[in-house]
Amino acid sequence: MAESARVSAAVGEKYEPVIGLEVHVQLLTQTKIFCGCSTQFGAPPNTSVCPVCLGLPGALPVLNRKAVEFAVLAAQALGCQVRETSVFARKNYFYPDLPKGYQISQYDQPLAEYGRIEIKLAGGETKTIGVTRLHMEEDAGKSLHEGFPDSSTSSHIDLNRSGVPLIEIVSEPDMRTPEEAFEYLTRLKEIILYTGVSDCNMEEGSLRCDANVSVRPHGQEKFGVKTEIKNVNSFRFIRQALEYEIARQIEVLESGGAIQQETRLFNAHEGRTYSMRSKEEAHDYRYFPEPDLLPLKVSAQWQAEIRGKLPELPEARRARWVRDFGITDYDAQVLTASKTLADQFEEAAKAAKSAKRVANLVQSELIGRLKAKGLEIEQSPISMKGIAMSADLLETGAISSKILKDLYDKSFAAGEDFPAVYEREKPQQITDSSAIEKMIDEIIAANPKQVEQYRGGKTTVIGFFVGQVMKASKGQAKPELVNELLKKKLG
Ligand SMILES: [Zn+2]
Repeated sequence: MAESARVSAAVGEKYEPVIGLEVHVQLLTQTKIFCGCSTQFGAPPNTSVCPVCLGLPGALPVLNRKAVEFAVLAAQALGCQVRETSVFARKNYFYPDLPKGYQISQYDQPLAEYGRIEIKLAGGETKTIGVTRLHMEEDAGKSLHEGFPDSSTSSHIDLNRSGVPLIEIVSEPDMRTPEEAFEYLTRLKEIILYTGVSDCNMEEGSLRCDANVSVRPHGQEKFGVKTEIKNVNSFRFIRQALEYEIARQIEVLESGGAIQQETRLFNAHEGRTYSMRSKEEAHDYRYFPEPDLLPLKVSAQWQAEIRGKLPELPEARRARWVRDFGITDYDAQVLTASKTLADQFEEAAKAAKSAKRVANLVQSELIGRLKAKGLEIEQSPISMKGIAMSADLLETGAISSKILKDLYDKSFAAGEDFPAVYEREKPQQITDSSAIEKMIDEIIAANPKQVEQYRGGKTTVIGFFVGQVMKASKGQAKPELVNELLKKKLG
């Protein structure tokens, strides 16, 4: 197959991509969706299994109430309408890691529908992506093709994952660029993480994404034939896979060919997609209502109880910070990157004199140092109490920013919190006016041009003089005193 998947920009612009995403999220329940087996990741193969999740004849499923609560919470966070009655359905297909020969899922009466996710576009404007539905289902087991002495001739099956609760979140085909898809996934993951119903760990498969993509000439209403890209394990790769697939489809159409509806796999090493199989249609699965389970009832009252557990979501939190803390949109975005970071920042911002200064410190002094050491915010040697304290010391002029940087370096080197390091290393501030005056006199004598500017009305030059004095005092002169004396001497 000759697929260079490169099209000129001019040809590319004739077409409009249409992208829809299906995301599977594993719920953080202790036990599986229809039995009491543990959901713990990494247990020895086939040790968390029982007749129900092994699909033995006659075993009956019992729905896990916690899984329903988590699914409803996620649906509410995504702005979905939750049905009071939804129905589990059998999705029939054969696969070696699916012992029952069917998966219990939901079909025409899913748990929730009509949600939305707001994404930010490159230009700064927002776009709403529709969430078609959110339904509950059980996971299948895992086929292991590697890591055994006989792996070259046999595959092994691990059924620990069989019956682990999932929600599937299906978007409307509202995205038009791989970038929008990337942004949608980022926001979706952020929202789910905030609800706490999943850890969204892509490496362990707690979040998996399939992408549907087609192209059509601009102005054409009818969708083109779509392909589905399966199980790509990072958002970056999804973006890359979509870029490749869009270019490939355009190339096929431009050369007079037709797109086959099919499932394709992305090879991250080669950066391209490969045809895997022709895509199933819903009728291939012979869905029918699961006879072993009653319809799921989630009353308005239960929904309201669950809604009470919904935390403030990142978008609302950012808006509140911009309003109450006076920080920028950008700052708020960085500081809500994870819920832990956001919670910690909020704690420090409330404890300190200036929330804005805390925001600056976290971004300019803390995050970089954490990254350099490969640490997560939870592992930071400087606690948020320490950040708040250092922000206040800076705010009142008790320490200079140079000294602060120094103390932070010492904290990180020793793995000690800021207050302890500060107590030990507390800089001996120069509060002796005569010593500072002497420095000022020398600096004034050495910089006649700036003195002239200041006296001519350009009072902002004072910053230059403050800087010079701080430098001369190795950052130890008390800043308020420096300001006061400078104004007197220059004025
Ligand atoms: Zn089980």
